[in-house]
Amino acid sequence: MERPVRVRFAPSPTGALHIGGVRTALYNYLFARQHGGKFLVRIEDTDQERFVEGAEEYIYETLHWLGIPADESSEVGGEYAPYRQSERKEIYAKYIQILLEKGHAYYAFDTKEEIEDLRNRLEAAKSTNPSYNALTRQQMKNSLTLPAEEVQRRLEAGEPHVIRLKTPPREEIRFHDLIRGAQYIHSSTLDDKVLIKQDGLPTYHFANVVDDYLMRITHVFRGEEWLPSAPSHILLYQFFGWEAEMPLFAHLPLILAPDGSKLSKRKASEYGIPVFPLFWHNHETQEDIKGYRENGYLPEALINFLALIGWNAGTEQEIFSLEELVPLFKIEQIHKAGARFDIEKAKWYNEHYLRHKDNTELASLLIESSLLTPEGGISAELAGKLVVLMKDRATFPADMWQKVPYLFHAPTEFDATVTGDSKKWHDEAKNFIKELSEKLTDFTQDWTAESIKHFIHEVAEAKALKVGKFMQAIRTATTGAGQGPDLMLILEILGKTETQARWARVEHI
Ligand code: GLU
Repeated sequence: MERPVRVRFAPSPTGALHIGGVRTALYNYLFARQHGGKFLVRIEDTDQERFVEGAEEYIYETLHWLGIPADESSEVGGEYAPYRQSERKEIYAKYIQILLEKGHAYYAFDTKEEIEDLRNRLEAAKSTNPSYNALTRQQMKNSLTLPAEEVQRRLEAGEPHVIRLKTPPREEIRFHDLIRGAQYIHSSTLDDKVLIKQDGLPTYHFANVVDDYLMRITHVFRGEEWLPSAPSHILLYQFFGWEAEMPLFAHLPLILAPDGSKLSKRKASEYGIPVFPLFWHNHETQEDIKGYRENGYLPEALINFLALIGWNAGTEQEIFSLEELVPLFKIEQIHKAGARFDIEKAKWYNEHYLRHKDNTELASLLIESSLLTPEGGISAELAGKLVVLMKDRATFPADMWQKVPYLFHAPTEFDATVTGDSKKWHDEAKNFIKELSEKLTDFTQDWTAESIKHFIHEVAEAKALKVGKFMQAIRTATTGAGQGPDLMLILEILGKTETQARWARVEHI
């Protein structure tokens, strides 16, 4: 019988969730939804030294912002709780005992120096596998080489030790990766992974396998960097006798920088690529780092963009809502090669979703984006007008006010391609603008784009002038820019007094 689909995203809370991790979470979510299964989030926090305060909350905030929440997690609980590995110590203690009894794991008492010494010797001898492994363990201090009484004595005396996986010396390990196909690894290339550390806590490898088994995980989708660990995980499933419940694996290609290199922090900032979904304060470096959200990316744009890094539906279609992705997404169609990150494409997606967003929602995003700035707290009324004015010209919500600085301050510089061109900027135009300013004194109607347009046309007609000839000059005199969005709406937003003042200054331009 097919098991119900259960997948997990298993981040370690060692810092802000990286954008690559967000994509892994998304793929897990899509797969679960597609199969009517469950999407779990399990917090892998057994490495206490690397634990970072706030990292777990950050993961959930990201998933909520993107609209891909977990069905079971340390946040919402679930049938297989706890979902935080630091709260599952007794479980790991029980399972390591089983492995020890079966003879698939052993105690190792070697000091750090002894292990370093081993590595140096092996490297000097140009060993192909310079590690603590099936061959080298025979020269080390462990329960395979020491007399049983001595092992007992050391354990009872509380001597520092770890528990390692007893890798078979000569065995071919096979598994099928959903993206990469058949994998064959010879056990002589592996190391005897530490399963339980000196502090008594499990390593990632051990806790991860035990939990995937206990939580009935059917598919493991994770980054390519875990591919080399997979054979040791497969061994654990075999040693426990859990082969029938072993999940299927898919190791996702790395996200690369535009030049094909690893998307490091430095590379990312060189290319202007945010690496975090949300704002993050790094306590170590005291750095404040903006995420996609603070940069003005819309969650639906980021979802669409991330889904298509390394995957496509096999058609020309590029725009997919989360709901559309659910039935179409296929793990098997993910490309093996690393996928390059194209920030321009991310912006293109953002523009698309911004254009299709409801104006009221956009106005709220615009206000939010202005709160901590000198223009601080743009009013709801103004925001509504800015949205109409700028929606088609913005990549991010903040563009809708940042790209029109002349709405907040009178211009001090004027587009020279207009003011320096005698065909566009001449006495006739300047006089006309001056006259507009004077005539405005008697203007008593409501100040709207419509009435302003009407007013300008009337003044022109009275003088038998073609108003089209002056439009660019009026725009430049008002905003300083030779081009821009709907001028009548700009004038409406500026208000009558400000418009009149700017037009009156035309002689000094
Ligand atoms: N805790 C691992 C990580 O941080 C999870 C890898 C996996 O999904 O198995 O990436």
